[in-house]
Amino acid sequence: MGKDFENIARIADGGADAVKGKVVWSPVRSLFLLAMYAGTVTGAMLYLRIDTVLLFTVKTVAVLLLGHSVGMHRRLIHKSFSCPLWLEHGLVYMGTLVGLGGPFAMIRTHDFRDWAQRQPLCHDYFAHRQPPLTDAVWQMHCELCLSHPPRLDIEPEVANDRFYRLIDRHWIAVHAPWAVAFFLMGGWGWVLWGVCAQVAVTVTGHWLIGHMAHTDHAQDWQVRGAGVQGRNVDFAGLITMGESWHNNHHAFPGSARIGLYEGQSDPGYWFLKALEPLGLVWDIRLPQHLPHRPALHWTGEQRPVPRPERRPCAVMTRLGALLRV
Ligand SMILES: [Zn+2]
Ligand SMILES: [Zn+2]
Repeated sequence: MGKDFENIARIADGGADAVKGKVVWSPVRSLFLLAMYAGTVTGAMLYLRIDTVLLFTVKTVAVLLLGHSVGMHRRLIHKSFSCPLWLEHGLVYMGTLVGLGGPFAMIRTHDFRDWAQRQPLCHDYFAHRQPPLTDAVWQMHCELCLSHPPRLDIEPEVANDRFYRLIDRHWIAVHAPWAVAFFLMGGWGWVLWGVCAQVAVTVTGHWLIGHMAHTDHAQDWQVRGAGVQGRNVDFAGLITMGESWHNNHHAFPGSARIGLYEGQSDPGYWFLKALEPLGLVWDIRLPQHLPHRPALHWTGEQRPVPRPERRPCAVMTRLGALLRV
């Protein structure tokens, strides 16, 4: 098994350097985000209503849960569970709606950062080491061009997937069908809240949690030899769909469950457990299924007891049995 569970297996770092590089402005990403901010401010001033706020909330939760956390991160990047390809396509498409980029761009950003954070030294960009304002500008409006980057080999079944190639190339245009549908249903108010405000909040929230999840020292699991440790952002478990338990994620990147201990909410994992009895999701990987990592050490006070595996939901189990008849 070994590297099967490691997204980092895509990286070939012969001679690569995680420190030397230049942060440069990324015009398309930057202007797109600024346009989304402008739309959000306009929407807040002209269309602050119950229906628009409700639309924003439902779409944002769906994009973060189905798209970013389950589709992009736990499935496409880490392969931490299995599902049919049509479902993976749907979830990854939802993940593109976050506004950070298409599937290849997301794999690249994630894997480069993961690789860099595991080196003894890495550029401030990877470590979120700069003060919040500089880090925000760097992460949301710029990119880091390494002088000697590692090579990234995306697995052929993903790299050659025509649907992924399409949504990666058109990662901004993927919002157009939603904008048109929202305009027809609720006018400009729905477009500004359902598209612009959602993108502005998901992109900014992604940066903010990423910044907080790397800027304090890790109290729990330490990956020895890694220059950057992850930190659990306690208050954000629910709103990040479980992604904010980032210390756990650095320790067990291949686990489909990220909120591992008492009091750690993990809606992404709950969603997987709800789909499991329907036969839509299987092979949900947990820390105990992953290969031993000698570099991993517990440095917190008392080691928490892992929560037992969640039992399948009774209603979904019955529904699954009915569907299989
Ligand atoms: Zn991290
Ligand atoms: Zn990850």
